[in-house]
Amino acid sequence: MTNRKQDICMHGGDDYDRFHGAVVPPIYQSSLYTRKTKNHGYTYSRVANPTVEVAERKLALLEEGEAALAFSSGMAAITAGILHYAKQGAHIVTLRSVYTPARLFLEDYLPRFGIETTLVSGERIEDFEAAIRDNTSLVYLESPVSNVFSLQDLGAIAELARSKGIATMVDNTYATPLYQNPLRLGIDAVVHSASKYLGGHSDLIGGVLIGSAALCEQMKHAERGMLGAVMDPQTAALLTRGLRTLPVRMAQHAANAAEVAQFLASHPAVERVYYPGLADHPQSELVRRQMSGSSGLMSFIPKADEERIKELPKALEVFEIGPSWGGFESLMNFPGVGLPEEALTHTGIPRGLVRISVGLESAAAIMEDLDRGLRRIART
Ligand SMILES: *Cc1c(COP(=O)(O)O)cnc(C)c1O
Repeated sequence: MTNRKQDICMHGGDDYDRFHGAVVPPIYQSSLYTRKTKNHGYTYSRVANPTVEVAERKLALLEEGEAALAFSSGMAAITAGILHYAKQGAHIVTLRSVYTPARLFLEDYLPRFGIETTLVSGERIEDFEAAIRDNTSLVYLESPVSNVFSLQDLGAIAELARSKGIATMVDNTYATPLYQNPLRLGIDAVVHSASKYLGGHSDLIGGVLIGSAALCEQMKHAERGMLGAVMDPQTAALLTRGLRTLPVRMAQHAANAAEVAQFLASHPAVERVYYPGLADHPQSELVRRQMSGSSGLMSFIPKADEERIKELPKALEVFEIGPSWGGFESLMNFPGVGLPEEALTHTGIPRGLVRISVGLESAAAIMEDLDRGLRRIART
């Protein structure tokens, strides 16, 4: 992360002149804007709202894009972006281990419009070369994926896709705009769930898409304006507030996670740890080239059978059990436990996989908690 990013989080896009010098931009809780004597540049808050635009300006600056659009959820941003690049009879390439609701939209929902999707592992450029067809219109990525933390070479894939007239879109929720900037590598559109680190306090649901000014201008009226899943001004104010502390929160998440990952990797009751920040990550060269940091989410496989792994929560005091991540609180969930073999193979998730979101508690308390849980379930 650069100092410049830190300064964007504090002041970027706040536009004090527009808001009478207010250090915190006001919440424009107004659905419409009148124009009897003058057109003030706003019409209706489904299309544009000054409070929402503050968060959008900050996120565009952070991702090094020309413009951003805020949505009512990460999934709203993802589905709007995918629909923008989809058309009747088109083909999309995505990852086996991509965020599950995004995969289900592509795999189960879009076929009703004649749109087909091919799933690939995504670690090798050959995966994409083999999957791309004449009618492929979009390569939809997530790097690293938020379960097994494998990466895609974003620059190489963007180049391949561009040479064939195919658009590329990346879910950058894991790294945040502080640790990875896909637009700089030639990717066309970046999406985030703002419900994770960007908001950071587990008190909002939101999403954002960042790309060229032309893309955002089209989508503002088409996929966002028509489908209508726009962020509301109260949520935008919470998001802007969250962004101001993003650099300090991420530094602490990352420092805690680095300690926790090392601790798990050397724990006798742990089979394997999945974390981009570990030196022995299978794609460590790409991690160094493409990312400037790793956040607080990781996974591991305990040396225990599934029935024992299910006992883990009983021994935990710091961790809560829940599927989300990116907030102040440490969370655990079980993506590789209790599923049939076909489901695991289809999504590339190994049996026994446990995922943790390392929160902002003390690293010592987090490790003590994990140690207590692992000792309880370990085969002895
Ligand atoms: C949570 C999440 C989303 C979806 O975001 P919502 O705000 O919950 O709709 C998308 N991608 C990833 C990687 C996520 O973790």
